Amino acid sequence: MKKKPKEEPPVISKEIIQRAKAAIFSDSITPVTKCTVCGSDAAPNSTESLCWVCRRLKISAWRDADQQMAASE
Ligand SMILES: [Zn+2]
Repeated sequence: MKKKPKEEPPVISKEIIQRAKAAIFSDSITPVTKCTVCGSDAAPNSTESLCWVCRRLKISAWRDADQQMAASE
């Protein structure tokens, strides 16, 4: 009757852990969407698929339009 080898705790080197963490980190960084205007990486929180630059431009354009509307009235 063979003796079962004593189960040893899994030895995970720090290097493997760091690699795994780096892989997870880089995956989470990679944006899923691209900016629909300029094609660069969209802001991670963006619901409009716009990068932060285009989002700012859009917001400033809205403000300009509002000011022009107010001025024409
Ligand atoms: Zn953009």
